[in-house]
Amino acid sequence: MSEPAALLADIHARIARAAALARRDPAGVTLVAISKTHAAPAIRPLLAAGQRVFGENRVQEAAAKWPELRAEWPDVALHLVGQLQSNKADEAVRLFDCIHSLDRPGLVAALARAMDKAGRQVPCFVQVNIGAEAQKGGVGVAELPALLAEARAAGLPLAGLMCVPPAGIEAAPFFALLARLAADHGLAGLSMGMSEDFETAVTLGASHVRVGSALFGARE
Ligand SMILES: *Cc1c(COP(=O)(O)O)cnc(C)c1O
Repeated sequence: MSEPAALLADIHARIARAAALARRDPAGVTLVAISKTHAAPAIRPLLAAGQRVFGENRVQEAAAKWPELRAEWPDVALHLVGQLQSNKADEAVRLFDCIHSLDRPGLVAALARAMDKAGRQVPCFVQVNIGAEAQKGGVGVAELPALLAEARAAGLPLAGLMCVPPAGIEAAPFFALLARLAADHGLAGLSMGMSEDFETAVTLGASHVRVGSALFGARE
């Protein structure tokens, strides 16, 4: 096995072990390989090893990198995991198959318009600022109900909730809170867990884990 293929197999094994602990079916967990900052030569071996769901955090970077790779692997699904400016909503809706960073009313409106225009429904996770951190993206827990109501009124396809917990402290309580918020609002999807904590996220119900450095190595 090539090194990327071995890393991929290892991540799948760890997801399967965490799922077994929680008596979950590992097929209920989608591994989103976060390929931001990595160029096509680093991504191709993972595609060759069977990985099909990738995440990027910048519209421009994804637009530069993925059309060529997608020509080779048409069944790739591309997820946006970074903050989205409203003026890039049209491009994001054309390029991505899922958006993990819906975080404000202005973006609800822009994405609803963009999806209408493109005739394409792109599932959206609402990003929650789960640790109430000033510098972090995501809607506040208190503002979440209103934002969900707006998204539903606008007809946006809602996939679930997403979070990036505070760095350097135990993530489990934040994952548990996100899971409870999702259940309270009747949402099935939970995008949570990164390289350092995806197993914990799986035991607490993650439907999507976003793993970058554990698959690609450290970013520059
Ligand atoms: C970069 C990034 C990840 C992946 O982080 P790793 O620690 O490298 O696994 C996951 N989610 C978001 C939103 C990111 O920006």
